[in-house]
Amino acid sequence: MKKILKSQISQLWKRINQSYELFIPIEKDNKVNFSMWQEGDQVNLEILKTNSSPKNIIFPQTETYLQFEKNGKKINMESVGGKKEAYVLFGVRPCDVVSFNLLDNVFLREPVDRFYEERRNKGIVISMACSDPEETCFCSAFGIDPENAVEGVDVATWDMGDKILWMAQTEKGKMFTQSLKDLLKEATEEDEEACVQLKNNIKEKVKNLPLSNIDMKKIDKSMKDLFESSIWEDFSAQCLGCGSCTYVCPTCHCYDIQDFDGGKSGERFRCWDSCMFSDFTLMAHGNPRKTQKERFRQRFMHKLVYYPNNHGTYACVGCGRCIERCPVHIDMVKVIKKLGGEL
Ligand code: SF4
Ligand code: SF4
Repeated sequence: MKKILKSQISQLWKRINQSYELFIPIEKDNKVNFSMWQEGDQVNLEILKTNSSPKNIIFPQTETYLQFEKNGKKINMESVGGKKEAYVLFGVRPCDVVSFNLLDNVFLREPVDRFYEERRNKGIVISMACSDPEETCFCSAFGIDPENAVEGVDVATWDMGDKILWMAQTEKGKMFTQSLKDLLKEATEEDEEACVQLKNNIKEKVKNLPLSNIDMKKIDKSMKDLFESSIWEDFSAQCLGCGSCTYVCPTCHCYDIQDFDGGKSGERFRCWDSCMFSDFTLMAHGNPRKTQKERFRQRFMHKLVYYPNNHGTYACVGCGRCIERCPVHIDMVKVIKKLGGEL
Protein backbone atom coordinates (compact mmCIF):
# COMPACT_ATOMS: atom_id res chain seq x y z
CA MET A 1 0.00 0.00 0.00
CA LYS A 2 1.20 3.54 -0.83
CA LYS A 3 0.25 6.97 0.42
CA ILE A 4 0.42 10.62 -0.47
CA LEU A 5 -0.08 13.59 1.84
CA LYS A 6 -2.93 15.91 0.94
CA SER A 7 -0.45 18.81 1.13
CA GLN A 8 1.27 17.27 -1.93
CA ILE A 9 -1.84 16.40 -3.84
CA SER A 10 -1.62 19.27 -6.34
CA GLN A 11 1.81 17.90 -7.35
CA LEU A 12 0.10 14.60 -8.08
CA TRP A 13 -2.46 16.30 -10.34
CA LYS A 14 0.30 18.13 -12.19
CA ARG A 15 2.36 15.00 -12.62
CA ILE A 16 -0.55 12.92 -13.91
CA ASN A 17 -1.51 15.72 -16.23
CA GLN A 18 1.94 15.65 -17.88
CA SER A 19 1.15 12.30 -19.47
CA TYR A 20 -2.64 11.96 -19.24
CA GLU A 21 -5.84 13.93 -19.38
CA LEU A 22 -7.01 13.99 -15.77
CA PHE A 23 -10.74 13.82 -15.01
CA ILE A 24 -11.59 14.52 -11.40
CA PRO A 25 -14.51 16.00 -9.40
CA ILE A 26 -14.25 19.76 -9.94
CA GLU A 27 -16.48 22.35 -8.33
CA LYS A 28 -17.82 25.05 -10.59
CA ASP A 29 -20.93 27.25 -10.21
CA ASN A 30 -21.91 25.35 -7.02
CA LYS A 31 -21.95 22.01 -8.84
CA VAL A 32 -19.37 19.23 -8.75
CA ASN A 33 -18.77 17.13 -11.84
CA PHE A 34 -16.00 15.02 -13.30
CA SER A 35 -14.20 17.48 -15.58
CA MET A 36 -10.82 17.73 -17.22
CA TRP A 37 -8.41 19.18 -14.66
CA GLN A 38 -6.56 22.44 -15.27
CA GLU A 39 -4.26 24.20 -12.84
CA GLY A 40 -6.29 26.41 -10.49
CA ASP A 41 -9.43 24.24 -10.65
CA GLN A 42 -11.23 23.63 -7.37
CA VAL A 43 -10.96 19.87 -6.85
CA ASN A 44 -13.61 18.44 -4.52
CA LEU A 45 -12.74 14.96 -3.23
CA GLU A 46 -15.36 15.06 -0.46
CA ILE A 47 -18.35 14.93 -2.78
CA LEU A 48 -20.01 11.54 -2.86
CA LYS A 49 -22.48 11.94 -5.72
CA THR A 50 -21.28 14.24 -8.45
CA ASN A 51 -24.11 16.11 -10.16
CA SER A 52 -23.80 13.94 -13.26
CA SER A 53 -22.31 10.50 -12.99
CA PRO A 54 -18.82 9.93 -14.48
CA LYS A 55 -20.34 7.76 -17.23
CA ASN A 56 -20.08 10.92 -19.34
CA ILE A 57 -16.31 10.28 -19.61
CA ILE A 58 -16.64 6.76 -21.03
CA PHE A 59 -19.94 7.33 -22.84
CA PRO A 60 -20.18 11.05 -23.69
CA GLN A 61 -23.55 12.78 -23.77
CA THR A 62 -22.88 13.64 -27.40
CA GLU A 63 -20.24 12.10 -29.62
CA THR A 64 -19.63 12.79 -33.29
CA TYR A 65 -19.16 9.58 -35.28
CA LEU A 66 -18.24 11.01 -38.63
CA GLN A 67 -17.98 14.26 -40.49
CA PHE A 68 -18.95 14.59 -44.13
CA GLU A 69 -18.38 17.12 -46.82
CA LYS A 70 -20.04 17.29 -50.22
CA ASN A 71 -17.75 17.90 -53.14
CA GLY A 72 -19.84 18.06 -56.33
CA LYS A 73 -21.36 14.61 -56.71
CA LYS A 74 -18.89 13.10 -54.23
CA ILE A 75 -19.18 12.93 -50.47
CA ASN A 76 -16.01 12.76 -48.37
CA MET A 77 -16.49 11.11 -44.99
CA GLU A 78 -14.14 10.95 -42.04
CA SER A 79 -14.56 8.82 -38.92
CA VAL A 80 -13.90 11.01 -35.87
CA GLY A 81 -15.37 9.17 -32.84
CA GLY A 82 -13.57 7.41 -30.00
CA LYS A 83 -10.74 8.72 -27.88
CA LYS A 84 -7.10 9.06 -28.84
CA GLU A 85 -5.64 10.52 -25.62
CA ALA A 86 -4.87 8.40 -22.56
CA TYR A 87 -6.69 9.61 -19.46
CA VAL A 88 -7.00 9.05 -15.73
CA LEU A 89 -10.36 9.11 -13.98
CA PHE A 90 -9.64 9.88 -10.32
CA GLY A 91 -12.01 9.58 -7.37
CA VAL A 92 -14.77 7.42 -8.86
CA ARG A 93 -17.04 6.00 -6.14
CA PRO A 94 -17.47 2.21 -6.08
CA CYS A 95 -21.12 2.34 -7.24
CA ASP A 96 -20.12 4.41 -10.27
CA VAL A 97 -17.27 2.00 -11.07
CA VAL A 98 -19.76 -0.88 -11.05
CA SER A 99 -21.95 1.12 -13.43
CA PHE A 100 -19.02 1.08 -15.90
CA ASN A 101 -19.03 -2.73 -15.74
CA LEU A 102 -22.76 -2.72 -16.49
CA LEU A 103 -22.20 -0.48 -19.52
CA ASP A 104 -19.38 -2.81 -20.65
CA ASN A 105 -21.89 -5.69 -20.75
CA VAL A 106 -23.84 -3.75 -23.35
CA PHE A 107 -21.20 -1.94 -25.40
CA LEU A 108 -18.40 -4.52 -25.39
CA ARG A 109 -20.44 -7.53 -26.40
CA GLU A 110 -20.69 -8.40 -30.10
CA PRO A 111 -21.03 -6.29 -32.11
CA VAL A 112 -18.53 -4.31 -30.05
CA ASP A 113 -19.03 -0.56 -29.95
CA ARG A 114 -15.61 0.41 -31.22
CA PHE A 115 -15.66 4.04 -29.99
CA TYR A 116 -16.73 2.98 -26.51
CA GLU A 117 -14.06 0.27 -26.46
CA GLU A 118 -11.39 2.81 -27.41
CA ARG A 119 -12.46 5.10 -24.56
CA ARG A 120 -12.41 2.27 -22.05
CA ASN A 121 -8.98 1.06 -23.17
CA LYS A 122 -7.46 4.53 -22.94
CA GLY A 123 -8.52 5.06 -19.33
CA ILE A 124 -7.11 4.30 -15.88
CA VAL A 125 -9.87 4.16 -13.25
CA ILE A 126 -8.96 5.21 -9.71
CA SER A 127 -11.70 4.70 -7.14
CA MET A 128 -12.19 6.35 -3.78
CA ALA A 129 -13.94 4.54 -0.93
CA CYS A 130 -17.04 6.28 0.46
CA SER A 131 -15.92 7.43 3.92
CA ASP A 132 -19.30 8.95 4.62
CA PRO A 133 -22.17 7.24 2.77
CA GLU A 134 -25.35 9.30 2.52
CA GLU A 135 -28.97 8.62 3.43
CA THR A 136 -29.94 8.18 -0.22
CA CYS A 137 -27.28 5.47 -0.82
CA PHE A 138 -28.40 1.85 -1.16
CA CYS A 139 -25.52 0.22 -3.05
CA SER A 140 -25.39 -2.58 -0.47
CA ALA A 141 -28.73 -3.89 -1.85
CA PHE A 142 -26.75 -4.80 -4.99
CA GLY A 143 -23.80 -6.33 -3.17
CA ILE A 144 -21.49 -3.34 -3.62
CA ASP A 145 -19.02 -2.67 -0.80
CA PRO A 146 -18.37 1.08 -0.70
CA GLU A 147 -15.34 0.59 1.56
CA ASN A 148 -13.46 -1.70 -0.80
CA ALA A 149 -11.92 -1.87 -4.25
CA VAL A 150 -14.57 -3.19 -6.65
CA GLU A 151 -14.04 -5.07 -9.91
CA GLY A 152 -12.97 -2.76 -12.70
CA VAL A 153 -10.77 -0.50 -10.59
CA ASP A 154 -7.10 -0.06 -11.55
CA VAL A 155 -6.16 1.71 -8.34
CA ALA A 156 -8.23 1.97 -5.14
CA THR A 157 -7.79 4.89 -2.74
CA TRP A 158 -9.00 5.80 0.75
CA ASP A 159 -9.28 9.34 2.10
CA MET A 160 -7.67 9.38 5.53
CA GLY A 161 -8.07 13.09 6.23
CA ASP A 162 -4.53 14.43 5.89
CA LYS A 163 -3.45 11.74 3.40
CA ILE A 164 -4.73 9.41 0.73
CA LEU A 165 -3.93 5.70 0.85
CA TRP A 166 -3.38 4.06 -2.51
CA MET A 167 -3.44 0.43 -3.62
CA ALA A 168 -2.92 -0.75 -7.21
CA GLN A 169 -5.37 -3.49 -8.26
CA THR A 170 -4.49 -4.34 -11.87
CA GLU A 171 -1.35 -4.56 -14.00
CA LYS A 172 -2.28 -1.22 -15.54
CA GLY A 173 -2.69 0.21 -12.04
CA LYS A 174 0.67 -1.21 -10.93
CA MET A 175 2.51 0.31 -13.89
CA PHE A 176 0.81 3.64 -13.30
CA THR A 177 1.73 3.51 -9.59
CA GLN A 178 5.32 2.71 -10.52
CA SER A 179 5.45 5.79 -12.75
CA LEU A 180 4.62 7.92 -9.69
CA LYS A 181 7.10 6.26 -7.33
CA ASP A 182 8.85 9.48 -6.32
CA LEU A 183 5.53 11.02 -5.18
CA LEU A 184 3.91 7.98 -3.56
CA LYS A 185 5.48 6.84 -0.32
CA GLU A 186 5.22 3.42 1.31
CA ALA A 187 2.31 3.29 3.80
CA THR A 188 3.26 2.40 7.37
CA GLU A 189 1.73 -0.33 9.53
CA GLU A 190 -0.26 2.38 11.37
CA ASP A 191 -1.61 3.65 8.04
CA GLU A 192 -2.79 0.16 7.13
CA GLU A 193 -4.43 -0.30 10.52
CA ALA A 194 -6.17 3.06 10.17
CA CYS A 195 -7.44 1.93 6.77
CA VAL A 196 -8.92 -1.26 8.28
CA GLN A 197 -10.59 0.90 10.94
CA LEU A 198 -12.01 3.23 8.28
CA LYS A 199 -13.41 0.24 6.36
CA ASN A 200 -15.07 -1.07 9.52
CA ASN A 201 -16.57 2.36 10.22
CA ILE A 202 -17.94 2.53 6.68
CA LYS A 203 -19.47 -0.95 7.01
CA GLU A 204 -21.16 0.10 10.24
CA LYS A 205 -22.49 3.32 8.70
CA VAL A 206 -23.86 1.43 5.70
CA LYS A 207 -25.72 -1.00 7.99
CA ASN A 208 -27.47 1.92 9.63
CA LEU A 209 -28.47 3.80 6.48
CA PRO A 210 -32.26 4.17 6.13
CA LEU A 211 -32.35 2.41 2.73
CA SER A 212 -29.99 -0.45 3.57
CA ASN A 213 -32.85 -2.79 4.38
CA ILE A 214 -34.11 -3.04 0.81
CA ASP A 215 -34.79 -6.67 0.13
CA MET A 216 -34.48 -7.50 -3.57
CA LYS A 217 -35.84 -11.00 -2.93
CA LYS A 218 -39.27 -9.45 -2.43
CA ILE A 219 -39.47 -8.67 -6.15
CA ASP A 220 -38.49 -12.19 -7.10
CA LYS A 221 -41.76 -12.67 -8.99
CA SER A 222 -42.59 -13.79 -12.51
CA MET A 223 -41.99 -11.34 -15.33
CA LYS A 224 -45.70 -11.48 -16.15
CA ASP A 225 -46.71 -10.54 -12.60
CA LEU A 226 -44.29 -7.63 -12.50
CA PHE A 227 -45.25 -6.45 -15.99
CA GLU A 228 -48.95 -6.50 -15.17
CA SER A 229 -48.59 -4.92 -11.74
CA SER A 230 -50.96 -2.01 -11.03
CA ILE A 231 -48.09 0.12 -9.67
CA TRP A 232 -47.14 1.31 -13.16
CA GLU A 233 -50.48 3.07 -13.53
CA ASP A 234 -50.12 4.87 -10.19
CA PHE A 235 -46.49 5.98 -10.62
CA SER A 236 -46.74 6.97 -14.27
CA ALA A 237 -49.74 9.18 -13.53
CA GLN A 238 -47.36 11.37 -11.48
CA CYS A 239 -44.31 11.10 -13.80
CA LEU A 240 -43.62 14.28 -15.81
CA GLY A 241 -41.61 12.44 -18.46
CA CYS A 242 -38.79 14.95 -17.92
CA GLY A 243 -36.05 12.31 -18.27
CA SER A 244 -33.96 13.72 -15.37
CA CYS A 245 -33.76 10.28 -13.77
CA THR A 246 -32.26 8.76 -16.91
CA TYR A 247 -29.77 11.58 -17.48
CA VAL A 248 -28.30 11.40 -13.98
CA CYS A 249 -28.39 7.60 -13.81
CA PRO A 250 -24.94 6.01 -14.22
CA THR A 251 -26.40 2.84 -15.75
CA CYS A 252 -28.85 4.29 -18.31
CA HIS A 253 -27.31 3.88 -21.72
CA CYS A 254 -29.96 4.50 -24.40
CA TYR A 255 -28.91 6.78 -27.21
CA ASP A 256 -30.10 8.17 -30.51
CA ILE A 257 -28.13 8.71 -33.72
CA GLN A 258 -28.82 11.84 -35.73
CA ASP A 259 -27.42 13.68 -38.72
CA PHE A 260 -26.70 17.38 -38.73
CA ASP A 261 -26.89 18.59 -42.30
CA GLY A 262 -25.17 21.93 -42.65
CA GLY A 263 -25.62 22.10 -46.45
CA LYS A 264 -22.22 21.30 -47.93
CA SER A 265 -20.96 19.62 -44.80
CA GLY A 266 -22.31 18.02 -41.68
CA GLU A 267 -21.88 15.30 -39.16
CA ARG A 268 -23.43 12.16 -37.75
CA PHE A 269 -23.52 12.07 -33.97
CA ARG A 270 -24.93 10.04 -31.14
CA CYS A 271 -26.54 11.58 -28.10
CA TRP A 272 -28.09 10.23 -24.93
CA ASP A 273 -31.79 9.51 -25.18
CA SER A 274 -34.37 8.67 -22.54
CA CYS A 275 -36.98 5.92 -22.49
CA MET A 276 -39.15 8.43 -20.57
CA PHE A 277 -39.53 10.68 -23.65
CA SER A 278 -42.62 10.36 -25.84
CA ASP A 279 -40.57 10.20 -29.06
CA PHE A 280 -38.19 7.50 -27.77
CA THR A 281 -38.20 4.51 -30.18
CA LEU A 282 -40.45 6.47 -32.54
CA MET A 283 -40.39 4.72 -35.91
CA ALA A 284 -41.96 5.38 -39.29
CA HIS A 285 -45.04 3.35 -38.36
CA GLY A 286 -45.45 5.09 -35.00
CA ASN A 287 -44.32 4.43 -31.44
CA PRO A 288 -44.65 0.97 -29.88
CA ARG A 289 -44.90 2.56 -26.42
CA LYS A 290 -47.70 5.08 -26.71
CA THR A 291 -48.38 5.96 -23.09
CA GLN A 292 -46.28 7.23 -20.19
CA LYS A 293 -47.27 4.10 -18.30
CA GLU A 294 -45.58 1.93 -20.95
CA ARG A 295 -42.51 4.16 -21.01
CA PHE A 296 -42.22 4.34 -17.22
CA ARG A 297 -42.64 0.58 -16.90
CA GLN A 298 -39.95 0.03 -19.52
CA ARG A 299 -37.35 1.95 -17.50
CA PHE A 300 -37.87 -0.06 -14.35
CA MET A 301 -38.55 -3.44 -15.98
CA HIS A 302 -35.32 -3.01 -17.91
CA LYS A 303 -33.24 -2.38 -14.78
CA LEU A 304 -34.95 -4.95 -12.58
CA VAL A 305 -35.96 -7.74 -14.97
CA TYR A 306 -34.77 -7.57 -18.61
CA TYR A 307 -31.15 -6.60 -17.95
CA PRO A 308 -30.75 -9.21 -15.15
CA ASN A 309 -32.26 -11.84 -17.46
CA ASN A 310 -29.58 -11.04 -20.04
CA HIS A 311 -26.58 -10.29 -17.85
CA GLY A 312 -27.29 -11.87 -14.47
CA THR A 313 -27.20 -8.66 -12.47
CA TYR A 314 -29.53 -5.71 -11.77
CA ALA A 315 -28.94 -2.57 -13.81
CA CYS A 316 -29.04 -0.29 -10.77
CA VAL A 317 -26.08 0.39 -8.48
CA GLY A 318 -28.00 2.16 -5.72
CA CYS A 319 -26.26 5.51 -6.18
CA GLY A 320 -29.46 7.31 -5.15
CA ARG A 321 -29.17 10.10 -7.74
CA CYS A 322 -32.73 9.47 -8.98
CA ILE A 323 -33.96 9.89 -5.39
CA GLU A 324 -32.41 13.34 -5.22
CA ARG A 325 -33.39 14.54 -8.69
CA CYS A 326 -36.92 13.47 -9.54
CA PRO A 327 -39.10 16.59 -9.28
CA VAL A 328 -42.11 14.52 -8.18
CA HIS A 329 -40.21 12.21 -5.81
CA ILE A 330 -40.47 8.95 -7.70
CA ASP A 331 -37.40 6.77 -7.51
CA MET A 332 -35.97 3.29 -7.75
CA VAL A 333 -36.39 2.54 -4.04
CA LYS A 334 -40.10 3.40 -4.09
CA VAL A 335 -40.63 1.25 -7.17
CA ILE A 336 -38.78 -1.73 -5.65
CA LYS A 337 -40.68 -1.43 -2.37
CA LYS A 338 -44.03 -1.07 -4.08
CA LEU A 339 -43.36 -4.02 -6.39
CA GLY A 340 -42.38 -6.05 -3.33
CA GLY A 341 -45.62 -5.09 -1.57
CA GLU A 342 -43.81 -3.03 1.07
CA LEU A 343 -45.45 0.39 0.56
S1 SF4 B 1 -31.81 3.86 -10.98
FE1 SF4 B 1 -31.40 5.54 -9.52
S2 SF4 B 1 -30.25 4.59 -7.84
FE2 SF4 B 1 -30.21 3.13 -9.55
S3 SF4 B 1 -28.27 3.57 -10.60
FE3 SF4 B 1 -29.88 4.79 -11.62
S4 SF4 B 1 -29.86 6.81 -10.60
FE4 SF4 B 1 -28.70 5.36 -9.30
S1 SF4 C 1 -37.28 12.24 -13.01
FE1 SF4 C 1 -39.27 11.62 -12.14
S2 SF4 C 1 -40.76 12.85 -13.30
FE2 SF4 C 1 -38.85 12.91 -14.48
S3 SF4 C 1 -39.05 11.19 -15.93
FE3 SF4 C 1 -37.97 10.38 -14.13
S4 SF4 C 1 -39.60 9.49 -12.82
FE4 SF4 C 1 -40.61 10.86 -14.33
